Amino acid sequence: MGAEAISDRIKAMAESATIAMAQAARELASQGVNVINLSVGEPDFTTPEYIKEAAKKACDDGYTFYTPVPGYVELKEAIAKKLKKENGIECGPNNIVVSTGAKQSIANVVLSLINPGDEVIILAPYWVSYEDIVKFAEGKPVIVSGSIENDFKPSAADIAAAITPKTKAIMFSSPSNPAGAMFSKEELEEIAAVVSQHKGVYILSDEIYEYINYVGGHESIGAIESVKDQVVTINGFSKGFAMTGWRVGYICAPEWLAKATQKIQGQTTSGTCSIAQRACIEALENESELKKATAEMGEAFLRRRDLIIGLLNEIPGVKTNVPQGAFYIFPDVSAYFGKTAPDGSTIANASDLSLYLLNSAHVSTVTGDAFGAPQNIRISFAASDENIKEAVARIAEWLGKLS
Ligand code: PMP
Ligand code: GLU
Repeated sequence: MGAEAISDRIKAMAESATIAMAQAARELASQGVNVINLSVGEPDFTTPEYIKEAAKKACDDGYTFYTPVPGYVELKEAIAKKLKKENGIECGPNNIVVSTGAKQSIANVVLSLINPGDEVIILAPYWVSYEDIVKFAEGKPVIVSGSIENDFKPSAADIAAAITPKTKAIMFSSPSNPAGAMFSKEELEEIAAVVSQHKGVYILSDEIYEYINYVGGHESIGAIESVKDQVVTINGFSKGFAMTGWRVGYICAPEWLAKATQKIQGQTTSGTCSIAQRACIEALENESELKKATAEMGEAFLRRRDLIIGLLNEIPGVKTNVPQGAFYIFPDVSAYFGKTAPDGSTIANASDLSLYLLNSAHVSTVTGDAFGAPQNIRISFAASDENIKEAVARIAEWLGKLS
């Protein structure tokens, strides 16, 4: 009786560290503590007005019924058009499956491809959920790590060395969560040159932060001829359009794989929200409004990135690099491991440090352990300039109390 009745599958699953930390911050705030939440991975902007208006209209126009499992055809067409035009990916609506967030898209693809024991190469530092989704499918995560010195980007040679006859997929995000790493066209071509030699290996390219980049553009590996039939491009509306709560993500995949993911979706969640999907059609098709919204958000994120790097670099022992995309900075804080907190406890690792910062400085961050990089912590700079300044001042003060 009770919790022991829970399946082994769910017992073995770790709780999402990003979600757990955001929840811990909310709980502390609900007790009246002035917490600055830099753990949560979402834009602090509300959804652009023109998208909200489209949702209201969709409601009034009667879009309140079940939707086709892979998404409205108009949305799939708008996505295919965007991918062809902006990303150079050859595709049509039958390659697109719209899901309840990119998180579901990733789970659908992994569950559709991975058999027990199949190896999935995950480039680290990686987004928290990749590893547990692979384990959920009974696959074996194989971690290939980059380091702060190379902007957290493993090389094509590192990937080649990790491929075995059991490798079925390679997963990464670019721009990356948690490090903001971005692969250039040349780097993607080097990776493609390796993977194209292994036709049974699929690349899961998570491009959800594509619009949030500081290098003037984003490259998609799905556009590279030699691997185009091996790539699943994952994207969605949460980050670039400030639509986290609307729950719309999508894949662009070979048709046979797109069909397989529809089977899972048809038996579990069905098509995602009708109103959100109609709003997403407008989000993509109204290009002038989209450009305005992404430019405004991009400008703010760039200013905040530079602000937080400058402030963190003033703290002794905190080592940063310059994120090229997304809205996270991922400093190496290992200089503080082994030190003693004012209450006598030892900060043994990044998890201890992140909890110390939450409970003492009242700033929430996420431990690097969750992203496969135990020397680091993730700090989101999707927050106001005032909150960033205050948070880093508190972090500096409380790190200074460690001896
Ligand atoms: N991929 C990455 C790298 C992310 O950071 C997120 C955000 N949690 C997702 C996928 C999932 O996004 P969503 O489910 O909100 O579309
Ligand atoms: N992607 C965000 C993050 O990494 C949202 C939380 C989540 O879904 O993990 O914080």
